[in-house]
Amino acid sequence: MAPLCAGCGNPAQPGESLCAECENKVRQEQKNGVYRMNHANLARAIRLRAEKIDSEADHDSVDYDTRRDDAELLRCLARILSGLSVKDAFGAPGDWGYGTPIGDALCEDYAAAGAAGGQRVAPADVERVG
Ligand SMILES: [Zn+2]
Repeated sequence: MAPLCAGCGNPAQPGESLCAECENKVRQEQKNGVYRMNHANLARAIRLRAEKIDSEADHDSVDYDTRRDDAELLRCLARILSGLSVKDAFGAPGDWGYGTPIGDALCEDYAAAGAAGGQRVAPADVERVG
């Protein structure tokens, strides 16, 4: 398969890692300091691995749920590699199940991030830092 644009996942220009449209967009975002890396080809390979795990998972096996979680964790990694935030990649703790290790860990991390995000820097602190 032809390499994909690292910006949008559409086919890239021959010999380039980006399509022309994304190259302009990335240049602009780099100027603004908001560019987030996208690894579309690695994400695609990891999604294929997740599909393989799903297709080989045996419904009657005792570790069926674990296999499905493993595949979903790979999809989370692929989403992060595609430029999504951890929160957008993993979704809500309840998606994994409250009381499960991953659901509980997400819950704790989101709460911590919310607390940190809720802390506002006082103007006096800005002056001290600056
Ligand atoms: Zn593109």
